Amino acid sequence: MNSALQVMKFGGTSVGDATCIARTAQIVAKAARKNPCVVVVSAMSGVTNRLIETARKAANGDATEGAHLTNVLRSQHAAAVEALIAERQSVMQKLDGVLAEAKRLCDGTALLRELSPRTLDEISSLGERLSAPIVAAALVTLGLRSESIDATELIVTDAFHGGAEPHMELTREKAQARLRPLLAQGIVPVVTGFIGATAEGRLTTLGRGGSDYSATILGAALDAGEVVIWTDVDGVLTADPRLVPEARTIPVISYREAAELAYFGAKVLHPKTLNPVMQAGITVWIRNSIAPERPGTKITPEGRSIGGGVKALTAIRDVTLIAVGGPGIVGLPDVVGRTFSTTADLRANVLLISQSSSQNDICFIVSAGDAERTVEALRKEFAQDLAHHKVEHVTVVNNIAIVAVVGENMRGTPGVAGRTFAAMGRENINLIAIAQGSSESNISFVIEDQAVKKALIATHKEFGLDVAAPDQD
Ligand code: ASP
Ligand code: MG
Repeated sequence: MNSALQVMKFGGTSVGDATCIARTAQIVAKAARKNPCVVVVSAMSGVTNRLIETARKAANGDATEGAHLTNVLRSQHAAAVEALIAERQSVMQKLDGVLAEAKRLCDGTALLRELSPRTLDEISSLGERLSAPIVAAALVTLGLRSESIDATELIVTDAFHGGAEPHMELTREKAQARLRPLLAQGIVPVVTGFIGATAEGRLTTLGRGGSDYSATILGAALDAGEVVIWTDVDGVLTADPRLVPEARTIPVISYREAAELAYFGAKVLHPKTLNPVMQAGITVWIRNSIAPERPGTKITPEGRSIGGGVKALTAIRDVTLIAVGGPGIVGLPDVVGRTFSTTADLRANVLLISQSSSQNDICFIVSAGDAERTVEALRKEFAQDLAHHKVEHVTVVNNIAIVAVVGENMRGTPGVAGRTFAAMGRENINLIAIAQGSSESNISFVIEDQAVKKALIATHKEFGLDVAAPDQD
């Protein structure tokens, strides 16, 4: 393993304007003086949203959007170039090339009134293709050697547009062949996050927020020593600080815990981020580019245990509970199978499942956006059984939330569930459903949405997450 190599990823807010890019460039310069670095960047914050919005308007036939978009993006990016870069001509030429492509894509979409997933990928990738040349030029202005590189040259993916998966072996070959010679010459490559390409060279994206994933894919492909995700918060927190003012940064956390939190809506990491580095055991850091002196959170294979095994809490809101049930379902062995083949057919994301052993009721949770079509499909699937009262109901409960208590060392620690639910009892919070996977690293429960803040504060206190962890390193 080339343990000196560092992959550093900077999110949208770390490249959001000239001031942020200047700070980012300083962070890179400092690291690059000591070790070889590969930089991965997101689009400037807000740009990807804007691109997608424009693409949709164009698909509705709005022919003015392409020109409008290119004007707005040009002034936004040119302002950063103006403020930061000494040698502006070549970078502006690059940006104008990308902007011309943006206009062609939007105009074409408006003309055809059609937006395929492939074209949407082309359009939504433009933000990274604009930010990377600026960051590379800012590094050059600071006296470093740097080059911007399109990740289409490095990351090979399948053809699932909007959420492509990498082919790690092919990516490894391409990334090594393209980046090693640059690193050997002391050049800092600045790679567009979020983007890949199929083996045939067709551009793909890794899904919203996918630049984190790009960073770990490249980290694994290049046998990096560590991957640092630079963002606008201090690291992984014990809870959402907007809901729990006492939330603290977690100094060390395991891959599994971080993945669990990412999946359960703690927005610091793309849920797939840790997959590529798990096998190689590459350390991932989450650090704050606005306050680079703070240590951040270190994500390691094991993490370490605090607070009776509970590491952090998270809440998923904007979800709907659906129950399929009635006393008659005890005798129907295929209800569970049919329920979940229905959700699978719809590609509805099921976040939690619970069935009591009386088997009167299966309940599960989906995102609120998936609820209506899921219920409709279930009522269709069980139409006969509902008519014959074998299935009594397909019901919906809105305005609920899932709270998850996460910690790898909860496994084998008795009393975590007891303490959690006793705390809910004391707060007079009604539990609608409960689930714990047999990995025991997550206990989830469903409550009314309006009780979320109270539930988080009480659980946070119960497990002493508001008290600094004793330093065990
Ligand atoms: N720019 C992309 C997005 O906004 C990818 C990223 O920021 O990670 O989703
Ligand atoms: Mg992000």
